[in-house]
Amino acid sequence: MGGNEQLYVQEAFAGNWIAPVGENLNKFEQAIVEATACGHAAAITSGTAGLHLALILSGVGPGDYVLCQSLTFCASANPIRYLGAIPVFIGSEPNSWNMCPKALEEAIQACMTGEIQQFAQADCPDYAQLTAKKPKVILPVHLYGMPADMDQILAVAKRYEIPVVEDAAEALGASYKGQACGTFGDFGIYSFNGNKIITTSGGGAIVSQDAAKIAHARHLATQARDPAPHYQHTEIGYNYRLSNVSAGIGRGQMEVLPEWVNRRRRNHAFYKEALGQLPGIEFLEEQPDTYANHWLTCILLDPASSGGVDRETIRLHLDAQNIESRPIWKPMHQQPVFASFPYVGDETADRVFERGLCLPSGSSMEKEDLERVVEQIIACFQAVSEKML
Ligand SMILES: *Cc1c(COP(=O)(O)O)cnc(C)c1O
Repeated sequence: MGGNEQLYVQEAFAGNWIAPVGENLNKFEQAIVEATACGHAAAITSGTAGLHLALILSGVGPGDYVLCQSLTFCASANPIRYLGAIPVFIGSEPNSWNMCPKALEEAIQACMTGEIQQFAQADCPDYAQLTAKKPKVILPVHLYGMPADMDQILAVAKRYEIPVVEDAAEALGASYKGQACGTFGDFGIYSFNGNKIITTSGGGAIVSQDAAKIAHARHLATQARDPAPHYQHTEIGYNYRLSNVSAGIGRGQMEVLPEWVNRRRRNHAFYKEALGQLPGIEFLEEQPDTYANHWLTCILLDPASSGGVDRETIRLHLDAQNIESRPIWKPMHQQPVFASFPYVGDETADRVFERGLCLPSGSSMEKEDLERVVEQIIACFQAVSEKML
């Protein structure tokens, strides 16, 4: 926490606005709009809810194709299935690990001709529905706060006139060519879950440059109640609005976002400086014109050039020292629940998963904490090389 969160929560209590409406919500949304220049924002209960609403508002329904980055957390893909739509998973490009624009275009063409069936397994629950259809949405992710190649992705989206929904759950504070991640598409979403760069304990936001779209999202998020004194509904609604209490936490957190981004970037720079020369280690790095929030510092271990040190050697060594590190997200096309759906892409995402490790990256880490992690990783390399002598 930064400092003012409790103050804003107390204000909600003092004014008795313990509801999904109130001043904290307005101020929190305003802060998101000011920080990202996203145009308009609605604070909601989660990033997942934001993706669900964005897909609904993009007209996604049963049997529709949604082109989704495969290397991501499952919450990017689950809302596609909530709607009975069909995820077509797209591979990664090696620079940002995000959606590969070439694979994206190949997938669009395969969807339009019906050849997409050849990219699926016969036990896909929607196998018979893998016919010639134009995809409804492109869903790229700015994974680990690293901006995706938006120029190329938007060029493909424009060429085929397909809306873009940006999963910027991990990327608040990151930007591409000076523009905030989450603000390029028809919709963007942010997450304020407990593990993200800032948190409301649980929460999210859906953003768009289009005021009418966000007004509609807010309407759907509050049970789609028509403006009438009696309770009347002409659309199916959802109970997705954030509470004014949680928004108080968010308001305080937005004040410290720039500082938290600095700290995450400092973590990354520290690790890079201390470990970058070790053989076989590669860092997930910013490309020219991108600004990452470095939510998590991620490395790849190539055992062929590291003297046999792989990501599990390091993870288990750190774990024995009571230091938690984690593998990279397992790609959706490798997940039991999604493996039968179409996948278009090369082996980059699989390689990143196999070799990738997220290092401890919390905003509250002190220099001594970072030093301890570094010492243990160097010790791990030494232990392996001594055994090999
Ligand atoms: C956390 C996360 C989400 C979901 O956000 P919640 O607020 O936890 O629902 C979606 N996509 C990605 C990439 C995430 O990391």
